[in-house]
Amino acid sequence: MSTFPVEQIRADFPILAERIRNKPLIYFDNAATCHKPQAVIDSLVHVYSHEYANVHRGVHTLSQRTSEKFELAREKVQHFINAASDKEIIFVRGATEAINLVAQTFGKANFKAGDEILISAMEHHANIVPWQMLCQETGAILKVLPMDHQGELILAELDALLTDKTKLFAITQMSNALGTVNPVKQLIAQAHAKNIPVLVDAAQSTPHMLIDVQDLECDFLVFSGHKLYAPSGIGVLYGKQKILEAMPPYQGGGDMIRKVTFTETDYNSLPYKFEAGTPSIADTIALGTAIDYIQHIGMANIAAYEAELLEYATEQAQAINGLRIIGTAKEKGAILSFTLDRIHPHDIGTMLDSLGIAIRAGHHCAMPVMDFFEVPATARASFAMYNTKAEIDVLMQGIQSLIEVFG
Ligand SMILES: *Cc1c(COP(=O)(O)O)cnc(C)c1O
Repeated sequence: MSTFPVEQIRADFPILAERIRNKPLIYFDNAATCHKPQAVIDSLVHVYSHEYANVHRGVHTLSQRTSEKFELAREKVQHFINAASDKEIIFVRGATEAINLVAQTFGKANFKAGDEILISAMEHHANIVPWQMLCQETGAILKVLPMDHQGELILAELDALLTDKTKLFAITQMSNALGTVNPVKQLIAQAHAKNIPVLVDAAQSTPHMLIDVQDLECDFLVFSGHKLYAPSGIGVLYGKQKILEAMPPYQGGGDMIRKVTFTETDYNSLPYKFEAGTPSIADTIALGTAIDYIQHIGMANIAAYEAELLEYATEQAQAINGLRIIGTAKEKGAILSFTLDRIHPHDIGTMLDSLGIAIRAGHHCAMPVMDFFEVPATARASFAMYNTKAEIDVLMQGIQSLIEVFG
């Protein structure tokens, strides 16, 4: 039995005291976005109360103080994913913007008609659509690594899909719809053996497992703050310095330039080359606070506790007649996607809401995954470090009573 201090952690999240429909909130929609500890909320208030000015511009003391805190957040992110340099950490709005940035700069500069981009069958729309848009613009072709009915990639097919035309392999580390955790280190090594760069979508994995970009050797890695106990509106693109240096800039404007005349512009050095315009200053600093918070608890402790939650929930779900788990990979993060015989996922969502339970019902921005499993949608309970087995008991009792009444 774990000695994870879940009650202490729960006390740090004020929203968990909310009541929904006159019941205590049970929040199982963490894969969509998760809640913020008081330390992160305090950090936002503190920035706006004491350290807020624009960054990198002012000679005045307050601006310097803000810039220092902003750059400190960059160092925290650097250490969090073990990047070799803080120049490799680009602040963006989220995972979606990070992938679009890579498509529109790296992709546009390097891909031509007939080139191939490889993704997998379990990608979030954010790791599909930017590549489709790029394919339309360049004539490149999108290829898909298939999966099986457990929701595991069919790795035997990877080698044949990594061809001399493949210019990038973009793969999720953890599926938001199925929970599958992919063996990205092995996939990266396989792609690198053919000199193919790899982008890792870590939007879903960062809150649940330790990430080390130098160990993975990924060329790009993207994630969002809002799924990592930080505010929305801030995310990260990691890229190897050499690759980022060779890439053209993304958006034009302030901070990304060194010198501008009406005839030419001299671009700023990394990471600022990719950070045009005033950034989300307070949210960025609060991302640093969220990382401090998580690291204080310990990523390995969080991962072990969440694995316990998933195992507990899976065992109970398997015992329910008429419940089908969608996504039964051996390596899984704390996500339980399921359907019930004769009850539409949206009705499951609505009826559980009346019990104070927040789950997600829908396609989870992964419509091709739904098509593959031949379901219109699933109900998804996704767990975070502040969830408990007692909450899972309430969920399972709720599902049981739904089946008794409507199934
Ligand atoms: C949430 C998510 C994204 C997109 O993240 P945003 O924060 O919406 O930009 C991309 N990929 C995966 C796997 C996700 O779970």
